[in-house]
Amino acid sequence: MYDLLLTGATVIDPSIGINGPADVAIEAGAIAAVAPGIAPDQARRVIEVKGAIVTPGLIDLHVHVFDGFTRFGVHPDDAGVYAGVTTVVDAGSSGCATFEGFIRYIIPNCHTEIVPFLHISQTGLATIPDIIAEGSINLDATLRVAHRHKGLICGIKARMVSPALEIFGMEMPRLARRAARESAIKLMVHIGDTERRYDPTVIRRLLPLLEAGDILTHYFTANPGGVLDGNGRLVPEAWEAAKTGVWFDTAHGRMNFSFDVGRRIIDQGLLPHCISTDITVPGRLRTVHSMTEMMTRFLGLGFTMEQVVTMCTANPARAIGMEHRLGSLAAGRQADVSILRVREGNWMVHDTVGGSLRVTQAVVPVMAIKRGEVFSARWGPRPWGWEPDPAPAGCC
Ligand SMILES: [Zn+2]
Repeated sequence: MYDLLLTGATVIDPSIGINGPADVAIEAGAIAAVAPGIAPDQARRVIEVKGAIVTPGLIDLHVHVFDGFTRFGVHPDDAGVYAGVTTVVDAGSSGCATFEGFIRYIIPNCHTEIVPFLHISQTGLATIPDIIAEGSINLDATLRVAHRHKGLICGIKARMVSPALEIFGMEMPRLARRAARESAIKLMVHIGDTERRYDPTVIRRLLPLLEAGDILTHYFTANPGGVLDGNGRLVPEAWEAAKTGVWFDTAHGRMNFSFDVGRRIIDQGLLPHCISTDITVPGRLRTVHSMTEMMTRFLGLGFTMEQVVTMCTANPARAIGMEHRLGSLAAGRQADVSILRVREGNWMVHDTVGGSLRVTQAVVPVMAIKRGEVFSARWGPRPWGWEPDPAPAGCC
């Protein structure tokens, strides 16, 4: 007897080669079966989700959920299960001096799974700028905390911004890489200097420092330090990094996403692997809005639904080294499932530098299932819910 059966949906999971009508059976917190026509009397609870899309649980590879410890952290469930997302990766909101707050106050008080990255700055993002002096980094304490919470802390985070680069130069990302290596965890590096102060060619010195499995975040940034040169061409080191096995994540946020940069990169053929939100309280209300809106944006940029699903399920699962448990509906995997709808209409989505894109399909969340537990999506970030801004009258 299954605990739960989802019926009537279209299941899209490229990791197991499914894109079509199928039912999903869940038992004891794991995926039991994905097949058409599973008899409803085999399950204790049946949820009919006719017309919906069922995917592996969405994974947002870059969020800020250190709620109360930073000025902009969202509650994990507002970025997570109440937005159709089952796992969020906190991108360095905490540092070694503040990380314990996650264990005591955040993780025990939410339903969404949090995968934290530890900022190389001791205080994480409790203050901005994050690094203000040499004493902002304490490598020994960072290593101790990463060691103490091995299995929970997934990686180290570094931000290529001012004034960290004036104070440390390239020693800052080198220290972060060293912390990641000595802790045997990943490295995530933010590119794009929002202060617009540093040398744009710093990207050419950064990329060769990255190793297989490292994550480059804000791939579509228009700020200095992005992956395009002055002529709009990808720097050669970006191609090398792709060959090395570096993950490219677009992480929209409030200041680091440009449709123009994105189109130039896409046209040159070096596609992103992941399409995270970099969600914060103001970003949720004003710029990025939701993980499902990132899916909407990439459908609007011409990606297929299968590509979009892969970029927020299987790829981020691999980027955090959890592909054996997350990011797939293969039998035996953790029962993390997202139930979504695609609405047809006429909307505009906006990047962070004044660019817009008209879209005719909008992805909205319906439910998230986390380890077999069901959560309905709440009202979305806009007054009318999850859909983007209506396209202006007479437009397009
Ligand atoms: Zn961020």
